[in-house]
Amino acid sequence: VTTDVGTNLAAVTAKIAEATRAAGRASGSTTLVAVSKQQPDDRIDAALAAGQRVFGENRVQEAQGRWTERRAAKPDLHLRLIGPLQSNKARDAVALFDAIDSVDRESLASALADAVQRVGRHPQFLVQINTGEEPQKAGVAPRDADAFLGRLDRTFGLRIAGVMCIPPVGEPAGPHFALLAAIARRNGLDVISMGMSEDFELAIRFGATHVRVGSGVFGTRLPR
Ligand SMILES: *Cc1c(COP(=O)(O)O)cnc(C)c1O
Repeated sequence: VTTDVGTNLAAVTAKIAEATRAAGRASGSTTLVAVSKQQPDDRIDAALAAGQRVFGENRVQEAQGRWTERRAAKPDLHLRLIGPLQSNKARDAVALFDAIDSVDRESLASALADAVQRVGRHPQFLVQINTGEEPQKAGVAPRDADAFLGRLDRTFGLRIAGVMCIPPVGEPAGPHFALLAAIARRNGLDVISMGMSEDFELAIRFGATHVRVGSGVFGTRLPR
């Protein structure tokens, strides 16, 4: 990782293209989500200047501050919420984001369904799966995933496009990526969001359609 965002973006993009090709997948079938949380404005603007348009944020308020004006200037921007969402922020999230990757409970699904009606936008929704079954981590347990996915559609009318996971720190990520891909496949879901700076190439090998790369693009994050 260099201090030049454009250089980093070019390097990550080249690695994504190579890993996608090596996995026998169509070129362009893996999307880079540049995770801009806790990054200074000059780095965000450098990424925009380099042509990056898909960004990930993990807090609604921080994202509103950073993106409301920039989005008005760049209609092709695509913003993804990749962090936990409180039900009382569902409306703000639906109004700002093009995708919400962290649907993980029925109360939130209900709030999102309500927000979709009121706001009149239907972002892409992913269900977060807690593949490592870590108590402190958000997400649906793998064994509950199929039933949960079925209920979101039947009970709340939410269209779910795919799944997302954050594997446990300090464990090989491969088995978690394989598990997430299997859940997507058997539920007929197209979108698989997995892989971060350290392991996005491995994630692509296991079928990631979206990789979320923060420090590998922007460098070290600022403390909150
Ligand atoms: C911060 C974050 C990332 C990016 O992490 P890096 O290691 O900086 O690439 C990816 N996914 C989620 C959910 C995050 O919160």
